[in-house]
Amino acid sequence: MERLKYHDILYNDDPIGPYPSHLLKRVDRPTNLVPGPIERRAARDSVFWKSLLGEYGEEMQREFKRLTVRYPMGASLVDLQWHINRLHKVSGHLSGALGDVAAASALNPVAPKKAPIPDDPRVMSRHLKLMGYFLGAEMIGIGRLPRSAVFTRDGKNNPVEAPFKYAIVFTVRKYDPVIRASNGWDRIFDSASFQAYQRIAMQTEVVANYLRRLGWEAETSNMDAYITLMPQLVLEAGLGEVSRMGIILNPFMGANFKAAAVLTNMELEVDGYLDFGLQEYCGNCTICAEQCPARAIPRGKQTLHNGYYTWKLNAERCNEFMILNKEGCVCGRCTKTCPWHRPNTEPHDLAGWDGSIEALHRSVDEQRDRLIANDFVDPDELTQKWWFDLDEVDGELIVPNEKNEEKICREYPLQ
Ligand code: SF4
Ligand code: SF4
Repeated sequence: MERLKYHDILYNDDPIGPYPSHLLKRVDRPTNLVPGPIERRAARDSVFWKSLLGEYGEEMQREFKRLTVRYPMGASLVDLQWHINRLHKVSGHLSGALGDVAAASALNPVAPKKAPIPDDPRVMSRHLKLMGYFLGAEMIGIGRLPRSAVFTRDGKNNPVEAPFKYAIVFTVRKYDPVIRASNGWDRIFDSASFQAYQRIAMQTEVVANYLRRLGWEAETSNMDAYITLMPQLVLEAGLGEVSRMGIILNPFMGANFKAAAVLTNMELEVDGYLDFGLQEYCGNCTICAEQCPARAIPRGKQTLHNGYYTWKLNAERCNEFMILNKEGCVCGRCTKTCPWHRPNTEPHDLAGWDGSIEALHRSVDEQRDRLIANDFVDPDELTQKWWFDLDEVDGELIVPNEKNEEKICREYPLQ
């Protein structure tokens, strides 16, 4: 038998990572048109920061501050988040809401001397991706960091600079059994997001820390301390295409994932944009727009927005529904009911896939037909709900009984 070389995996062409991303079609430019220029934005212009700062009124401000912590599972996740936030230079929006978390970035300064490791972008890209998979990431892509993706200012109006060349973008899937057992806007939905945010924050913090120990500058953009616009980075890193929901959709996970990034100047190999036919698919489908309780997703064609074509989400409506949702915590009905969020897409289910876009679309069509036949409610899945409906009101936990879904649906006309 031929003797295998130690470290071969870093030098050969073997696929890496749990998903068959090596079979996906790569293209030179995003599949949605980007005539540019794309202007940088300030984090505090986001609907979340505007809610926190009271720009949508007292009720929205009060409910935003209580959003995650009024549900005890969400509050437990936020308690852990405080510890992770201490690693950041920039304190995040929830930290800002709950009190100030002092910056403590000096925990891991950049080593004064670079480590004796290969000076080869491809090898180091494979090495860092394999480390990310070791830490539990689902799909990792590498893209250039466009300056337009870096916020000009954080939520506290501090200037943001991220003088880095590359973004290593990590994704983790939101825990699918709870997404399937949820109606898409009940109490588990926010906790499912935070569970994913924390896993991905752990992964990206460890990799950034590791890079600094190797002698390269590295910064994270994660959880509630994002310093970059993540949809743009997910697109740049070849992890998905623009969808009707206005966010990036991945061919294997649908939109049921969270993303975070490690920013660095270490020379790396970029992956290229993805093309799995989503522009045409979303052009012929309006399920998310019809299932959205806030009617925030447009049913028409893409429009030009800040230098690129997209289906522009009405972020104010979506945000208002999420924050004032008394029947649950936030919302993700669109990502749950999108037929790209289909069963049997765990890595082991995809072992026989040959890279055919037609086969991908056929499986999405089957899920679409199943959803429509069941009126978007799978009775088997809804019996799997294991969490309690609890809400904190005036310091006490109560079983909430207010149903507001009908009212909210009636208030918003279809777009
Ligand atoms: S539900 Fe349909 S239109 Fe909406 S993102 Fe999914 S495939 Fe695209
Ligand atoms: S767009 Fe917002 S409100 Fe509408 S389904 Fe998606 S998360 Fe819910």
